[in-house]
Amino acid sequence: MRFTHVELHRFALPLVRPFRTSYGVETARHGFLVRVLGPDGEGWGECVAEVEPLYSPEYTAGAYEVIKRFLLPRLDPADVHAAGIAERLAPVRGHRMAKAALEAAVLDAECRMDGISLATRLGTIPRLVPAGVAVGIQPSVAELLDVVGGYVAQGYRRVKLKIEPGNDVVPVRAVRERFGDALMLQVDANQAYSLADVAALEALDAFGLQHIEQPLPEDDLFGHARLAELIATPICLDESICSVRQAAEALALGACSVVNVKPARVGGVLEAVRIHDLCLARGVDLWCGGMLETGIGRAANLALAALPGFTLPGDLSASDRYFHRDLTEPFVLEDGCLRVPSGAGIGVTPLASALADFVTSSETLPLTAF
Ligand code: MG
Repeated sequence: MRFTHVELHRFALPLVRPFRTSYGVETARHGFLVRVLGPDGEGWGECVAEVEPLYSPEYTAGAYEVIKRFLLPRLDPADVHAAGIAERLAPVRGHRMAKAALEAAVLDAECRMDGISLATRLGTIPRLVPAGVAVGIQPSVAELLDVVGGYVAQGYRRVKLKIEPGNDVVPVRAVRERFGDALMLQVDANQAYSLADVAALEALDAFGLQHIEQPLPEDDLFGHARLAELIATPICLDESICSVRQAAEALALGACSVVNVKPARVGGVLEAVRIHDLCLARGVDLWCGGMLETGIGRAANLALAALPGFTLPGDLSASDRYFHRDLTEPFVLEDGCLRVPSGAGIGVTPLASALADFVTSSETLPLTAF
């Protein structure tokens, strides 16, 4: 496709549940949208990097700078194809979330030009996909039970609890006892443990968890493989897997038996599809993670999660789990599921009223030949 320019729109979208950061309590999600435009059409993508580099080395302002200074100049404005973007941008090391945002916008534009949904382009059909919810560490067990109870009442198909050393067995036991064995329950440690904590992790075996996600540091595949021998709860990897090669390596080592894929973490939806294909071929359970996406990022995640290898509910929640108002028409739960948009491209676009209310600055950048 031919593109003449790219717009970057920073936004601040008020959150339903504020969260703590290094500099205080954050009441809004700060991110930015990427819009590619040209004579052949336009498309939207979302950068999901967080304001601080606490989940991954990337952060919002850095990703913005990388797109502007290093990624856009590498595109040939007369000939941009989503399938070739990763290779085109490969000389820029890392920065997968920035690359994923750009690829997403181009993919959306290509699908809109072809008049097909992203789900169709990825080889599946728009359908309902089971929705899961992730619950952060709460100030008390009573508050945790209240929060989980609210989501269970809404119909979410599975619940994920964030855990950390000293804040694991007690809350997990409380949730299991209150909501029973039928609740699909899993935990996410975000790298907070070491092999010295094996006793606490082994204690979680009593609660029938679907799996434990990323207990050890992201670069410790051998540690995860060792831990898998010591505990009964299956291990899922998130931060450790940034490419299909790393997914294959982790599975070969026995470092995990379940995979979480986030398109942004692996450099884009197309690399996520390759990880899907790997897991499907090997019979490995897979699910789609989330990063507090607005409707723009969520729509793309849902199209991906409609592929047949996504065997477990993902961190794909309704818009009102995160935001009072979304940037798009809100995604709503339907019997514990979310509907994959069937319109062309990602099937949603930002609402003019939402852009007017929540965009804090916009920049238009011309594309010129590298
Ligand atoms: Mg995780």
